[in-house]
Amino acid sequence: MNIYEVIKKKRDSGELSSEQIKYWVKGAVSGEVADYQSAALLMAIFIRGLNKRETADLTWEMMHSGQVLDLSDIKGIKVDKHSTGGVGDKTTLIIAPVLAAAGLKVAKMSGRGLGHTGGTIDKLESIKGFNAELEIDEFFRSVNSAGLAVIGQTAEVAPADKIFYSLRDVTATVDSIPLIAASIMSKKLALGADHIVLDVTYGDGAFMKNIDDARSLAKQMVEIAHQLNKNASAVVSSMDAPLGHAVGNALEVHEALAILRNEPFAGFTKEADKELMLVSMTLAAELMLQAGLVDTLADGVVKGIELISSGAAFEKFRLMVELQGGDTAYVDNPQLLAVSAYNRDFVAPKAGFIRRFKAEEVGLASLALGAGRHKKSDAIDYGAGLIIYKNVGDWVDKGDKITTGFAADEKLFESSFEHLRAALEIGPNAPLIVPQIAEIIRNGN
Ligand code: URA
Repeated sequence: MNIYEVIKKKRDSGELSSEQIKYWVKGAVSGEVADYQSAALLMAIFIRGLNKRETADLTWEMMHSGQVLDLSDIKGIKVDKHSTGGVGDKTTLIIAPVLAAAGLKVAKMSGRGLGHTGGTIDKLESIKGFNAELEIDEFFRSVNSAGLAVIGQTAEVAPADKIFYSLRDVTATVDSIPLIAASIMSKKLALGADHIVLDVTYGDGAFMKNIDDARSLAKQMVEIAHQLNKNASAVVSSMDAPLGHAVGNALEVHEALAILRNEPFAGFTKEADKELMLVSMTLAAELMLQAGLVDTLADGVVKGIELISSGAAFEKFRLMVELQGGDTAYVDNPQLLAVSAYNRDFVAPKAGFIRRFKAEEVGLASLALGAGRHKKSDAIDYGAGLIIYKNVGDWVDKGDKITTGFAADEKLFESSFEHLRAALEIGPNAPLIVPQIAEIIRNGN
């Protein structure tokens, strides 16, 4: 076999055989296939597409290009959750302890933030001492005793994805649904959970800008899991506006802890953010349903809320932090979490309804304050970010506070304000509010 023939076949709209896909992935990892050849093939796939069988084969080969975790040393039903990305998305911090309190096992490998979206590991590391780099045996021990542990994804998981993703990133071939589906599912499936729920976001702050593409990606990912004999479902949710009241690492941990502790966040609202709770409880309930703990999604939502109200989920979160070396004083008293030294309010330039508050621009505003990374090696300021007081659908008078930003350097506010101005659209008429959850996909066909 030679890679030239494989590229030519896809270029001419042919269907790649399982052997050809295996040959490519193995060759890319061993170095036998050059990066420029993989880049050419990725572009051919971007243009010509992959059918379901090819996508499942590519996922399987990428998944087996590195370590595939065997979770049999963890007792009980193992569940995992993945989001395709968002702004203010702290759902993992809420869902994982709820599921652990429900008796499920959450052995989670998460990413760090890059660009306008945040990463769960950065958020957890804003708790002093939290260690996200446990050895695998310590990781399993923590999951067995606390019911949950969250660590950073190791380099050994799906190395082919790292090669392909970095090539896609520089050759304008990221936005291909089969390539995204294979990339995400190869990593998820390598982590070995029994049940997976995918939060597939769509809208301004998401990878998928419209709902049709999100639905198609969700279906393909669920289909891949089923073809490879894994249980999976997908929740398609809106990411047009930021989720919840906080964007930024320590601020998001604070908001999640406020929910788990049944306390108001930042003192400005008595109830937890409804959209954040809806997405979190739906994802948790979907996993409870898949695992057979409840008979209906509604029962799962009720159970999730009970586990928060009783404090059981909070106790799981606290135990996770303790077992991963974090200082539990931060969990018991979230006021201790870092807050950057300077703050500035962003106020409404005129009266009206907030018709849009574009998630990507809000994410960039938080990034400009120091809460994120432009490139992988950048340091982040855990105390930087935004508290959001008004969001889409709210009425504002001129001068009303929409956000408060936090930064370690006063000079950072101007660029952040530019993004906030670009994010905001105020008008005389109330906007149409789309349902936060568009649909749940349990069957890939
Ligand atoms: N996230 C991934 O992990 N892979 C993609 O291709 C896109 C988003």
